[in-house]
Amino acid sequence: MSRSRHAHAQSSPAPEIPQDLTRGLKSRRDARELLRPLLELTEKSSRLFHSSLATFEFGNDLYRIDKFSFIGPQRGDYIRLGLFGGIHGDELAGSHAIVEFLRLLHQTPKLATGWEIFSYPVCNPTGFEDNTRFSRKGLDLNREFWHNSKEPEIQILETEINQMNFNGIISLHADDTTDRMYGFARGSQVTRHVLAPSLNAAAKIIPINQDRCIDGFDAEDGIISDCYEGVLGSNPATHPKPFEIVLETPQLLPLKQQIDAHVTALLTLVAEYPKFISYGQDL
Ligand SMILES: [Zn+2]
Repeated sequence: MSRSRHAHAQSSPAPEIPQDLTRGLKSRRDARELLRPLLELTEKSSRLFHSSLATFEFGNDLYRIDKFSFIGPQRGDYIRLGLFGGIHGDELAGSHAIVEFLRLLHQTPKLATGWEIFSYPVCNPTGFEDNTRFSRKGLDLNREFWHNSKEPEIQILETEINQMNFNGIISLHADDTTDRMYGFARGSQVTRHVLAPSLNAAAKIIPINQDRCIDGFDAEDGIISDCYEGVLGSNPATHPKPFEIVLETPQLLPLKQQIDAHVTALLTLVAEYPKFISYGQDL
């Protein structure tokens, strides 16, 4: 519908705005807004650092994948975590949760004692900007990993994952088909034991989905052991495998509640996993 049909008779005619531009103005989101508080923190922190992975072009625009690294107080060998948000561009909770998680670690660094945390809050920058699950090219990037994908986002993230040798990988998501939390346990055998306490802690904010079938997969206590092909995770050739978690909040719940649940799960994981591996070594 044309704008002029709504114009009031006595008002001067509004300047004609091309429809595609209006749509762009309404829907485009700016990742810089989301990340600005973290960028400000890096200026006063001796533990939080910003860098950017390789850039890529789409149309006339240049995009980058931002990386925020938090180095906790040292205790023995560091455990190296890769924390990924927003591979589906319309799932905001994960991107916001990473910002909030790092803000809390900046305030209380000892929460991350023994950890090096490398985080990528916006892994699908064009989808984030457009508020779409897919990249602007129309691809579900979370089905493209480790298949020789030509997509720049995938190549950039695969290079990073190969270089970083993570001990654990967490990818944060939101699902509009569930009203409760759940997660996928992938990678090393210990993953479900790492995920369970985190889900239990987050259950104080959002209950665990206890269905025996979630998203088409067998599930137990909110944990799925199977997964889709091509999701963001470690290189299949990696040995030993890191623990790998995909955490899902109900996308239709208030954003604040989803962020709190993700952050609670992350704080629990960084507190509990070091105990878990030290018990393991004593057995
Ligand atoms: Zn998702």
